[in-house]
Amino acid sequence: MNKYWSPLVDELSPYTPGEQPKVDKLVKLNTNENPYGPSPKVLEAIKQATTDSLRLYPNPDSDQLKQTIANYYDIEPEQVFLGNGSDEVLAIAFQALLKHDDEERPVLFPDVTYSFYPVYCGLYEIVYDAIELDELFQIRLRDYLKPNSGIIFPNPNAPTGILLPVDAIAQLLEENTESVVIVDEAYIDFGGESAVSLINQYPNLLVVQTLSKSRSLAGLRVGLAMGNADLIEALNRVKNSFNSYPLDRLAQAGAIAAFEDTDYFDETCQAIIDDREDLVSALEQLQFKVLPSAANFIFVRHLRLDAEMLASQLRKRGIIVRYFNKARINQFLRITVGTLEQNQLLVDAIVDILQTKD
Ligand code: PMP
Repeated sequence: MNKYWSPLVDELSPYTPGEQPKVDKLVKLNTNENPYGPSPKVLEAIKQATTDSLRLYPNPDSDQLKQTIANYYDIEPEQVFLGNGSDEVLAIAFQALLKHDDEERPVLFPDVTYSFYPVYCGLYEIVYDAIELDELFQIRLRDYLKPNSGIIFPNPNAPTGILLPVDAIAQLLEENTESVVIVDEAYIDFGGESAVSLINQYPNLLVVQTLSKSRSLAGLRVGLAMGNADLIEALNRVKNSFNSYPLDRLAQAGAIAAFEDTDYFDETCQAIIDDREDLVSALEQLQFKVLPSAANFIFVRHLRLDAEMLASQLRKRGIIVRYFNKARINQFLRITVGTLEQNQLLVDAIVDILQTKD
């Protein structure tokens, strides 16, 4: 039979997202959403936008939002790019900045890392080399100093949660001047320092962020990238070739309010950091090994119990966490830091599982 699609489609192995359960009662600690909800000022701004002018197209360039972000980071609005979640921003960045097919100069990213990167490479037919993390699950930057057509990694890395200091990124940029370096800062606000401070110094640095995690707006779908104005222009050229309105009116209004309400942002990020440290202590007492996390999730391994079994036993008790059936990390679970109450439910459920097993 004729196939009415490209051979590429048969070869794709699409990204498998974390489960979004159909029932409400589960304690959902599997996709790193923020347990505290967005700022009340964001909800107010969105409500206002619904009554104002949904009849009209939105501002195609999200000018006011770009200005708000530029003010927040002390950069120029021409250094800001926006998309429908950072997954879309990353997709455009892969297409605009990393799309090469030079076998001698693959795109480099870590193994283990965000599992969307190899998917984009498959989609855009990009040659890549996934570089193993070191024995402590850290990114070893000297492994990236070889001919390449671009380097990308999350900071903190996902799903490990391990942070690279901004000085190390500056060091990499000093040595890697021939290709772009993309730092995916989806989880940077939970104790890390952003590399945005380096964009004026290094024209090949692109920093990608999202409002899904620290600003608790996963449902609104707003992602951004910041870098030299020429890099941002390259992203705009690709974006304008397939979608002139990446952000709707509600997303623009909500995102502006989210960047303006710095008090709420600081308080909720700090609460998550504090709760993370308490959760780590509680799990260590239950014989878990926890990788050092600067994110709103932790990556943990029990000294005796099998990770897949633990995930399924937790699910039976109404709690979902993330299990990756992948070499090297198949004895780990990634657990989102929830509310105090959710974290306690998790700890209680683990105690229950341990008692049942003994
Ligand atoms: N980067 C990393 C490292 C992530 O874990 C995620 C969340 N799955 C994203 C980007 C994308 O987040 P969003 O599309 O919600 O902005």
